[in-house]
Amino acid sequence: MTSELLNLLVDKALDGAAPSRAEALALLAGPEPLIDVIAAGSRVRREFFGMRVKLNTIVNMKSGLCPEDCGYCSQRLGSESEVLKYSWISPDEAARIAEDAVRAGAKRVCLVASGRGPGERDITRIENTIAAIKADNPNVEICACLGLLNEGQAQRLAAAGAHAYSHNLNTAEARYSEICTTHTFADRVDTLTRAGAAGLSPCSGAIFGMGESDEDVVDVAIALRELDPDSVPVNFLIPFEGTPLGNRWDLTPQRCLRILALFRFFFPDVEVRLAGGREIHLRSLQPLALHLANSIFLGDYLTSEGQPGIDDHQMITDAGFTVEGAHEQTLPQPRHDLVALRRRGAGTDLPANA
Ligand code: SF4
Repeated sequence: MTSELLNLLVDKALDGAAPSRAEALALLAGPEPLIDVIAAGSRVRREFFGMRVKLNTIVNMKSGLCPEDCGYCSQRLGSESEVLKYSWISPDEAARIAEDAVRAGAKRVCLVASGRGPGERDITRIENTIAAIKADNPNVEICACLGLLNEGQAQRLAAAGAHAYSHNLNTAEARYSEICTTHTFADRVDTLTRAGAAGLSPCSGAIFGMGESDEDVVDVAIALRELDPDSVPVNFLIPFEGTPLGNRWDLTPQRCLRILALFRFFFPDVEVRLAGGREIHLRSLQPLALHLANSIFLGDYLTSEGQPGIDDHQMITDAGFTVEGAHEQTLPQPRHDLVALRRRGAGTDLPANA
């Protein structure tokens, strides 16, 4: 690796500094051979995460029939995708699904529900689900992903034992209204801020392959970095027939890997998660992505099927990585220290941090 740009990006990342806009654009468009870009990103990945791969699983608590109109989503208002549609599954059913995933190596269980945001009864459902999962797996990380949060809801989730809250920014603010008209980019930032203030570990990422320019990719990376998330899912559009973006197949494996490398440079010591769409867009190059991302989803996605878990384990082993153990810490210690577990406010006898 001889590129001045790549050496600079590695040095900055190891110091915790982000790429400049010009550097980021050059990485996406530039002449550096892809294998050199991956090798540079891999140096940063190995510095903070070694060769560990964290496994996560999704439990779709409530599927389809959403009143929102996110153009990429198979569950959106007016979607003609023939995805599963059901109302809330029970806490026991969710716990059974989670148990299988934990046995297969998942450290984090993401409880996801379609909809604009949870009502108070929905929060109660999630509280009961967290209790059911934790009864048998007290150390598993639970992440809730329930849409826009109202006052006090993040506190209830934290008090119930949720570890994280996930809400993606999805794309650059300037083009947000092109992919969704029923809520705004600012609404999403607001929910992430509420989650972080309640002591939940913020998880927020993006979806690529929706017609964005290189500038849009860099804009959303910058916006995400400003939120200082602990985990950043990088999704590649799954083009569902029956949705407005159902015909978009813009991505190449090379493009996906450059985007992943860019995110590793923007988030050197943060959990960068290879998320939806990896199988269909990275295809035979999936294992190379493990040199950049330190985390993947195991099993199926919300409404589409993923690669069999056994193949994921084989891919990880074949590429020389190991599955992160239940008692291994994901984030490097300095960042880990920034996560202050809440010991005041809801669920305690102490006043809230108001
Ligand atoms: S992404 Fe979430 S809010 Fe948007 S349509 Fe899909 S389920 Fe609804």
